Amino acid sequence: MNLKTPLKFLTGIGPSLLYKLSRLELFTVGDLIYHFPFRYDDFSQVSSAIEAKIDEKVTLQGEIWSIKNIYTRFGKILTQAIFNDGASPITLTWFNQRWLTNQIQVGDRLQISGKLKKYKNKISMVAPVWEKLPTQSGQNVIPNDKLLHTGKLVPVYPETAGLTSKWFRAKIAQLLPTISNQLQDPLPEFIQDKMLSLPDALQKIHQPQDYKEMEKAKKRLSFDELFYISLATIKTRKAWSKKLLVAPLTIYPDALEEFIGKLPFTLTAAQKKVIEEIITDLKKNQPMNRLIQGEVGSGKTVVTAIIIYLVYLNHYKTLFMAPTEILAFQHYSTISNLLEPLGIKVGIYTGSKKSLESRVKSQEKKSRFSTLTTSDSYPDVIIGTHALLSEKLITEDVGLIVIDEQQRFGVEQRSLLRSKAKVPHFLTTTATPIPRTVALVVYGDLDLSTIDELPKNRQQIKTYAVPGRKRNDAYKFIEKKIKEGDQAYLITPLIEQSETLQSVKAAKVEFEKLKKVFPDLKLGLLHGRLKGKEKDEVMQKFKDRQIDLLVSTSVVEVGMDVTNATIMVVESAERFGLAQLHQLRGRVGRGLKQSYCLLFCGIEDSNSKNRLKNLEKINDGMKLAELDLKIRGSGEIFGIRQSGRFEFKLASFSDIHLVEKTRQAAQDVLKLSPALDKYPTLRGKLDDLTKGAMPD
Ligand code: ADP
Ligand code: MG
Repeated sequence: MNLKTPLKFLTGIGPSLLYKLSRLELFTVGDLIYHFPFRYDDFSQVSSAIEAKIDEKVTLQGEIWSIKNIYTRFGKILTQAIFNDGASPITLTWFNQRWLTNQIQVGDRLQISGKLKKYKNKISMVAPVWEKLPTQSGQNVIPNDKLLHTGKLVPVYPETAGLTSKWFRAKIAQLLPTISNQLQDPLPEFIQDKMLSLPDALQKIHQPQDYKEMEKAKKRLSFDELFYISLATIKTRKAWSKKLLVAPLTIYPDALEEFIGKLPFTLTAAQKKVIEEIITDLKKNQPMNRLIQGEVGSGKTVVTAIIIYLVYLNHYKTLFMAPTEILAFQHYSTISNLLEPLGIKVGIYTGSKKSLESRVKSQEKKSRFSTLTTSDSYPDVIIGTHALLSEKLITEDVGLIVIDEQQRFGVEQRSLLRSKAKVPHFLTTTATPIPRTVALVVYGDLDLSTIDELPKNRQQIKTYAVPGRKRNDAYKFIEKKIKEGDQAYLITPLIEQSETLQSVKAAKVEFEKLKKVFPDLKLGLLHGRLKGKEKDEVMQKFKDRQIDLLVSTSVVEVGMDVTNATIMVVESAERFGLAQLHQLRGRVGRGLKQSYCLLFCGIEDSNSKNRLKNLEKINDGMKLAELDLKIRGSGEIFGIRQSGRFEFKLASFSDIHLVEKTRQAAQDVLKLSPALDKYPTLRGKLDDLTKGAMPD
């Protein structure tokens, strides 16, 4: 057994458990070992029922005197036991766990942990965590390291129905010794320095003696998370810098000036700065690999069009990839408007001719698209989805590849590194604000340009954190606006109602509910479990105004441009990061009409409300992303989790010291052994993490 062993090979894990584990995305022994506690209960205070303080966490040892199930008037089942720790008998109560009477018998010696409560002068403990003590005839000496759930710092795990922390503790405890024995620490010794070894850290994150040990374990495991991604990005950057360029470009400043002069607006200073940065890259005899970040509407597409034009002047073609078909069509319309007047041929390619035809029909622009099927002569710019790469359209005359808002930055570049001797320039764009320290690590293989300024004429989206008691007023407002001809989005965090997250709104449930609230309106439903095509269809309907109110999870594409939509409602908004909420808000305010963003809390605590209030005042995505970093600290930051590159469970980017230390360590290792030949375990681990997509 090792970390890669599928859980289904373990004894005692059958189909039902496997299904539950899959809901937490746990498939291998490694997934389970890396399923870290999100907090710990401190039950280390072992005391007696007389000495212990009311309402404090405490651990008691004693004997069960009686235990029975009681059926309440409301159909609930209570399990009640009398427990005597030798000092004073107390009552234990559990809800809806009738099987406990089979597991615990009169005379059993238990160790229990929980908080003591006092009610009508009687002392009791509600829903204590318990485990049996080895029967050592009344002796109080217990082998503490054998106990898992009580009497110490006890880990609490992310759970799902039927998979409790108790289960995780027991299963992980069973696996840890074997794993620790055969696990080699991939970190070279000089980097391990004074940190815990990997096997130690894994053991101590699950079974710490105290908080200090836990912190040490966390530090080592955070180091790993940041270290591997640093290693990967530095390595990719090095490999990229050795690549040959398809062909060097000449920049024609006069033509550039003329083009810019003909735009119906003047470029912002930020746009000009970014264009300069890109031109500096283009002049080099080395392929560019640059990421432009800038909010929706900051003018990335215009900048991109200018660069495409420069490439065109050198008689090279551009491939432009969008994450979805619908966005590809949107870009097609923007780019062709800008470039076709200059005689540049712009084409669209989506991989499926059928969807092309159906969409063209729906947009009533058939004449415009009819000449642009794949069999046609190769246009100067081809816009499409990722189908572009799979169709081997990357020929020697492609000078530039543009990738818009893909979540997996760098993946295409990496695969190209393997397959092609010469590569074109790469330009990636994103509307996701990424704080600098984060970008340094996560996108360390890309050069970064930021458009940190919006054109002057942008409208402010009026944003309100709405208290629950004003919900009906909000509904009235939405209905009024829609009847005036506007459209609205309503976003929920979940697709389906979750048992454990009762207060969190789910799209399917809201959709049914809102149909009753707004019987006259046309509602649509969109979520991530729809197929790509179905998603596109719903979005298209929304664009065509066949849907008034779109109930959706956060899958609504970042770049989606429905100018008629003016209202963005977010339910259970406290579940989202501020930067993510800002992005959701960016789906409205695209047209000339005043737009609104209404944020509802699922749980109205003052922390959440204050956090959301920031959105009423701050309109800068980067500032909000930095606030997220401060408030939430870790991989919670929007875009990182979804980046698909690495998962951050523990590491915090606000720990700049650690960020710098890991980067330095990665550089040191690569200096000693550029291809990591000296460190085969490390190399293997990196390959696993990058799924073998690393350049040599
Ligand atoms: P992004 O791709 O960053 O979302 P776009 O390039 O699509 O932004 O620009 C959004 C809108 O703003 C477009 O209608 C575009 O014509 C316009 N625009 C771009 N740059 C400027 C500018 N400097 N001044 C005024 N409007 C601009
Ligand atoms: Mg754009």
